Parts: sequence; C-alpha cells; structure tokens
Amino acid sequence: MTAQIIDGKAFAARVREQVADHVSALKSDHGITPGLAVVLVGEDPASQVYVRSKGKMTIEVGMASFEHKLDADTSEADLLALIGRLNADPAVHGILVQLPLPDHMNSDLVINAIDPAKDVDGFHISNVGLLGTGQKSMVPCTPLGCLMMLRDHLGSLSGKDAVVVGRSNIVGKPMFHLLLGDSCTVTVCHSRTKDLADVVRRADIVIAAVGRPQMVKGDWIKPGATVIDVGINRVDAPEKGAGNTRLVGDVDFDSAAQVAGAITPVPGGVGPMTIACLLANTLTACCRANGLREPEGLTA
Ligand code: NDP
Repeated sequence: MTAQIIDGKAFAARVREQVADHVSALKSDHGITPGLAVVLVGEDPASQVYVRSKGKMTIEVGMASFEHKLDADTSEADLLALIGRLNADPAVHGILVQLPLPDHMNSDLVINAIDPAKDVDGFHISNVGLLGTGQKSMVPCTPLGCLMMLRDHLGSLSGKDAVVVGRSNIVGKPMFHLLLGDSCTVTVCHSRTKDLADVVRRADIVIAAVGRPQMVKGDWIKPGATVIDVGINRVDAPEKGAGNTRLVGDVDFDSAAQVAGAITPVPGGVGPMTIACLLANTLTACCRANGLREPEGLTA
C-alpha cells in the first residue's frame, strides 16, 4: 500500500482563506479588525524567522499585526509591563510571546501573565485546565492543526485507537485531550514506554511528537493507519553536497508511507497548519471578545 499524502500546506492555505473571509466580514459588518501581538525577546535566529513569518501571514489575512522586539537583556519586569499593556489594549485580541525566553526569565510566570482570553498559544494555565476538563478554551496551535487534519481526512474520530508519542505540554498532552474529546481511545507514550513499536502498531491514528529524526519506522505502523508527523528535525544531507542539511520528521516517511493509509510529509505537513491555527485562534479570540458567533470548523 502507498499512503495518501495529507497536504498540510494546501490545507493551511484553505484555513487562512477561511480566516481571511471572516476577517473581511468582521471589518465590513462590525468595523472590527482582529489584532495579533507577537513579542520576541532576544535574537534567536529561528525565533526571528518564525516571528517574521507570523507577522507576514497575519497581515495577509487582513488582521493587524503588532510586533514587539525586545533586547535579550530586557528585565522580566519590563516584559510583564508590556504584557499588561497588551492585555489592556482593545485593538489586541491575541498575544503570543515567542518561546524560548532568555534564561533570566520565568516562562511560566510570563505566559500566565497573559490574559487567558488573549492567550492564542493556549499555554496559560487556565486554558490548560479548561482543555483538560473539556471546556471551551484557547487550544495550542500545533495540536489543533493535527486535529483539523485528522477530522478533514477521517471525518469522525470516535472509537479510533490513537497513540501519541511524546508527552510535552505544547504538543503531546494537549493532543491527548483533543483526541479524547473526539472520543478516541488514547495512549500517550514517552521515553520510558516499554515496547513502543508494539504500542504504536495498535493505533488507527499515530501522532509522532518526539524530536528524534525518523524514529517511527514503517514496521511500527498498522496497515491503513493515519500518521501525523509533528517532528521537525534538521539532518545532514550529503546527497545535496557537503555541509548541506534537510528537514525530516519523527517518522521514517519512506517506509511508513508503504504501510499507512495516509501520512503527513515533513516539510509541508503539520508545520504550515501551526501558523494557520494561530490566525484561527486570533479570530476566535476576537469573536469571543466582541460577543460574536465563533467561526465554524476553526476551533476544537
Ligand atoms: P519535547 O522535547 O518537549 O518532548 C519530546 C517528547 O518525546 C517527550 O515527552 C519525550 O519523553 C518523548 N521522547 C523522547 N525520546 C523518546 C523515545 N526514544 N521514545 C519515546 N518517546 C520519546 O518536544 P516537543 O513536543 O516540543 O516537540 C516534538 C517534535 O515536534 C520536535 O521535533 C519539534 O521540533 C516538533 N514541533 C513541531 C511543531 C510544528 O509546528 N510542526 C511545533 C512544536 C514542535 P519524556 O517526556 O519521557 O522525556
């Protein structure tokens, strides 16, 4: 069997179009422009790339983009003061503080200073608690993107056996809650899981969020399973010439695609969905802040 490729790039473009249509209607019908503030502390090159691309896409869907770039030696108190101002600013509906923060800052303290209603990353402890108890919350963008792709591909997820490899707060754990919310039977694996391959082999749905290049092999996959590869790993690519690199996922794509029913590629799978879901969350936050109906299909 050769798996169907779940094209995250194309799906993300459709999500952004939907968001843009809603934004346009919000402007014309209500005179409201959703606004996203992104805060970057320091000069981490990868973070700078993410922030630039978030800002560009925010503007492309018609939202207002507010970028705040702070020096690496900014004090935690100054960052908290900025968050306080953004919390109080009615033009800002979503706030994202780009992680990781410099070592002298307490990330939990900073994230929990964001107004939970504007916490478009879904990392505030209130949103974590709401998601964990099945209540309306802001949902972390990467797992939300995975859920949207699964629903789009499979329709109902009810009763499916799902295995999540990885238990991080930003991917694995929220993914567990989202799949459970859609009535999957969910197993979460981690570095101490015994017989990992056997556990993964039972799954109708595999979510790989490990951070280990090509760890999940084709012979771990149940024939016909749907495989969502969250991993982004840079590896040497001597075939492209000495010193070159390429991106690979946590799944060994070539062998898994021979067995799976469907699979997301890396790049072009989950990655593009993450920013699309950030925009969707900002739109959702804006609608909630203004007492307007939330867009359908863009939330959990
Ligand atoms: P973390 O490092 O926070 O978590 C990794 C998880 O994998 C941990 O729970 C760890 O277990 C588990 N793990 C590590 N080694 C093994 C192993 N040998 N067997 C089983 N489990 C193992 O990573 P993240 O969740 O932040 O990210 C995971 C991947 O997803 C990374 O490649 C990251 O780059 C990517 N990512 C992609 C995003 C996107 O937009 N597409 C967004 C966010 C992340 P333990 O808890 O026991 O240590």
